[in-house]
Amino acid sequence: MAKKKTAKKTESRTPNPKSRHVYLFGKSRTDGNGGMKPLLGGKGAGLAEMCRIGLPVPPGFTITTEVCTYFYDHKRTYPPDLKAQMQAGLASIEKQTGKTFGDVKNPLLVSVRSGARDSMPGMMDTILNLGLNDQTVEGLAAKTGNPRFAWDCYRRFVQMYGDVVLGVQKREGEDHEPFETVIESLKQERYHGDIEDTKLTADDLKELVVRFKALVKERVGKDFPSTPWDQLMGAVGAVFGSWMNDRAIVYRRKYNIPSEWGTAVNVQAMVYGNTGDRSGSGVAFTRNPANGTKEFYGEFLINAQGEDVVAGVRTPEPVKELKGHMPKAYAELERIRQTLEKHFKDVQDFEFTIEDEVVYMLQTRNGKRTAMAALKFSMDMFKEKLIDWKTAVMRNPADQLDQLLAPVFDVADAAKAEAIATGLPAGPGAASGQIYLNANRAVEAADRKEQVLLVRVETSPEDLRGMIAAEGILTARGGVSSHAALVARQMGKVCVCGASALEVDYQARTVKVGNKTFKEGDWLSIDGTAGKVFAGRVKTAPSEIVAGLIEGDEQAKKTEKFKSFQQLMKWCDEATRMSVRTNADTPEQTANALAFGAVGIGLCRTEHMFFEGDRIDAMREMILADTLEARKAALAKLLPYQRDDFAGIFRVLKGYPATIRFLDPPLHEFLPHAPEQQKDLAKKLGITAEKIHTRVEQLHEFNPMLGFRGCRLGIEYPEISEMQARAVFEAAAIVQKEGIKVKPEIMIPLVGFKKELDQQLEIVNRVATDVQAEKKVKLNYLVGTMIEIPRGALTADEIAQSAEFFSFGTNDLTQTGLGMSRDDSGSFLPKYAEMEIVKKNPFATIDASGVGQLVDIACAKGRSTRPDIKLGICGEHGGDPDSIHFFEKVKLDYVSASPFRVPVARLAAAQAAISSKGK
Ligand code: PEP
Ligand code: MG
Repeated sequence: MAKKKTAKKTESRTPNPKSRHVYLFGKSRTDGNGGMKPLLGGKGAGLAEMCRIGLPVPPGFTITTEVCTYFYDHKRTYPPDLKAQMQAGLASIEKQTGKTFGDVKNPLLVSVRSGARDSMPGMMDTILNLGLNDQTVEGLAAKTGNPRFAWDCYRRFVQMYGDVVLGVQKREGEDHEPFETVIESLKQERYHGDIEDTKLTADDLKELVVRFKALVKERVGKDFPSTPWDQLMGAVGAVFGSWMNDRAIVYRRKYNIPSEWGTAVNVQAMVYGNTGDRSGSGVAFTRNPANGTKEFYGEFLINAQGEDVVAGVRTPEPVKELKGHMPKAYAELERIRQTLEKHFKDVQDFEFTIEDEVVYMLQTRNGKRTAMAALKFSMDMFKEKLIDWKTAVMRNPADQLDQLLAPVFDVADAAKAEAIATGLPAGPGAASGQIYLNANRAVEAADRKEQVLLVRVETSPEDLRGMIAAEGILTARGGVSSHAALVARQMGKVCVCGASALEVDYQARTVKVGNKTFKEGDWLSIDGTAGKVFAGRVKTAPSEIVAGLIEGDEQAKKTEKFKSFQQLMKWCDEATRMSVRTNADTPEQTANALAFGAVGIGLCRTEHMFFEGDRIDAMREMILADTLEARKAALAKLLPYQRDDFAGIFRVLKGYPATIRFLDPPLHEFLPHAPEQQKDLAKKLGITAEKIHTRVEQLHEFNPMLGFRGCRLGIEYPEISEMQARAVFEAAAIVQKEGIKVKPEIMIPLVGFKKELDQQLEIVNRVATDVQAEKKVKLNYLVGTMIEIPRGALTADEIAQSAEFFSFGTNDLTQTGLGMSRDDSGSFLPKYAEMEIVKKNPFATIDASGVGQLVDIACAKGRSTRPDIKLGICGEHGGDPDSIHFFEKVKLDYVSASPFRVPVARLAAAQAAISSKGK
């Protein structure tokens, strides 16, 4: 798809797209522009655009990404006419610079650099000074009158080319890069090691070239190429070849860059930052990309070429210091900084070289930034009238927004900490705590005022109390929609799940990682934004936004971060079409979500309410009951709890709707499985442990996710649905009588057949009639269903005859649509991602082309029966920006996300609305 788009763009700009492989840039002619990133790569497009706006860019040409695709489609060969076009490109550079490639008197040297559509830092090193050989180096020395400079260029070239193109790199057992070893031994021989690189003489550098070439010959078995053209073709091949090296593949996988994109190659006339003290090289940002401050930010080195700045051999100086060294060049850089921002209307990250006090631009691109910087940039640039408010909204990456809400690790402390494992970043933020491997012990420790980290192989509803007590949750197994992950996000807890390096031993109460063993009570720290686990205790600090909104901290509300965040959210409300609700089961979670801007509950999982305090005992009693009467008696004990819970939630909602889902999980999840716990429960309930054991056996299923759960429970045990309906309506009646509006929406889970829904609907409506009569109130309520199994989606027209709303349960819809267990896919999904069978984890980002079709069909069919049917989504995808863009496309009415994810969802929904209007 990407390729087709590229071809189209090329067509509109060039007469003969198929044979156009080389795009020139420079003062006299520029073929491309900044909008051509797919074809020219980010670097090529940026260079072209800078030429168009008159910035000083050394002339050059870009070989397109299509050539890279051709290269891989044709057994690593080039299109037949590439050579002629490159020669024409070189001729143009020669004309503009007055130098000639390979000329012994006045040689043109070029740089060769990769440039993919999105920047891929460090994917492929740059090659500088290409075109030097034993003859041209003399020409360069004579022409510049600076032999030291000429030989410095040559030794750099042989070193870089030898490393990147010829592969002379560190071997196993070697401590240093081989070329560096050669430099070191020469320094030892000639200066006892006591000399800086910049002080080496022309003769030293000449000797280095000789030794470097000998090293190449020894390692590669071939002479170093001396013909400039051969050097150039070798470098171009190395750039294209690097697209498939391990580093690039790993990077692409991490950042979801498709391998079809390919890289472009940029060949550009050299300018020299290493001619002496009136020259230098640097990298800079037009504003501070870490905290967003409007200040010139970056670094430079005097008498250096570009790679010195990043190589870390010498320590660069802050770019502001340049003012003192070269005021004219600094003033020019300031002018360029302003021009770049005015033109690109975004913060730029650029590379420059100063040759004899003249500034040249070698690259520009939108600067990568933290969430904090993105927020500040967007607010400041709006105030400066560089961008409008909608652009400001678009400038804040939704998937980074939770960085702003999360407690953070103290930066210096985290840098010192020892990283011991990685897992999935399931609940953003930073948390440290003493580890406990069992919920009860975690609760006890928290009661003792310990800071607790709950560590489990994986969590289940039984662990809920422990999860509440803990600062953070760490699991060895489970994906992003595992129990641990979704509960953690809902509670706003920091969570790392699926950290497979952990060996959790419940018996020994230890966690082993490699040869390290941590006992209960030992400290671990987790970074749920990055998915990292650290040994020991790392200091944390809360976010001002959370402090202001949730804790009502007045001081926090005065901070710029807080105010900017609120402004952003206000704009989101203006732009959005979909509203954002929350997945919440307690008044506290609901209040948090409302503080973050949610306008109702999209999913209240009622089963979560059965785990607090002693309620679980009544629930267990109900499950263990032999007769209808016994079951009803147990349910009667649960009724007041549920009624109070719902009333509490209704009071917080103040008239916002609450979608309340009836009991859904398989019943075995509520019973203890360990003999020890079964014994305890037996004693409590006055029955035999044997009986509990037998019931657990009876409830055992091979596929519990496809078994006795969802509406199947209420169909088998209608008294459960009756109790839940009564709790909802009695609570509604109580709160309505208090003068507070109440809007319950009862949701039946896992419906595949209209008749299933009808059977439950009959119960709900009957109980509603009874309660209204008993309490003498009129209640407004809706009854609808989750669409979470394919049959439900495919027969949505029939189901909509009974359902007043649909809420897509995309966790189960993904599980059943893909036939992949949401709890067990961790064992093969990473491989699938690696092989690009799936682009992203389908349990985190909706599989738009597969499961998305089910959503699309269900929307169309639902609307065909009931045009005003209310449509929402309450699976974990409701808080995922990419998925939210999909839900905008199918025009859902709302998404529902866990409380701390609400701002992310609001931002993503606003951005989706802005982009869809743009189209
Ligand atoms: C779902 O399946 O998407 C859903 C929200 O329900 P649960 O995760 O509770 O199964
Ligand atoms: Mg479900």
